[in-house]
Amino acid sequence: MSSKRKAKKASSERSAEKGGQVGLDAKTIEELVPILLHSRGNPVISGIIKNLESGEAVSDDDLAALIGVKVNTVRTELNELYANGMVTFEKRKIPNQKWYAYFWKLDMNNINYLIQQRIKKVIEILNKRLQYETSHSFFYCPKDGKRYTFEEALEYGFRCTDCGTQLQAQDNKEIVERLRSEISRLTQLLESISGQRKES
Ligand SMILES: [Zn+2]
Repeated sequence: MSSKRKAKKASSERSAEKGGQVGLDAKTIEELVPILLHSRGNPVISGIIKNLESGEAVSDDDLAALIGVKVNTVRTELNELYANGMVTFEKRKIPNQKWYAYFWKLDMNNINYLIQQRIKKVIEILNKRLQYETSHSFFYCPKDGKRYTFEEALEYGFRCTDCGTQLQAQDNKEIVERLRSEISRLTQLLESISGQRKES
């Protein structure tokens, strides 16, 4: 296989080759790595990820040129990615020069792991919320929207503690459905990333 063709291989195949893991495609990485770093919308982070997705090691100078920013800006974000275990680097001696260049790669196995951990955490939080929603009845203030469990509403005589308005029963079916659908979406995503998709 030519190197050009090899570079174009789907990243999911690449991660499968590297760590026996499948399903972590470029779109998922581009979407989730910035979220993990709390740097969504950072164009330099996005640029670094896009330029390293092929799996080829790229120097910080080349990355800066490719993204169109100063090399120091790229280095700052590479250090951030490195501190979070998302990139690796190797030092290469520049021929006829005293200094080294740093060539960077995405740490696909660790990114895969970190993304799975994060998704599991979110599913856990959503499940707790679902449990709360399905095990309580709710009331709300029609004036300001403040929400009460049945027990709270009972305690306050079914009056809003902020404005005194009579509380009304709230149907939380929509909230429950939204939670269920988000849990199901994330569970499928997790299964596809970890390569354990169940045949349905
Ligand atoms: Zn109120």
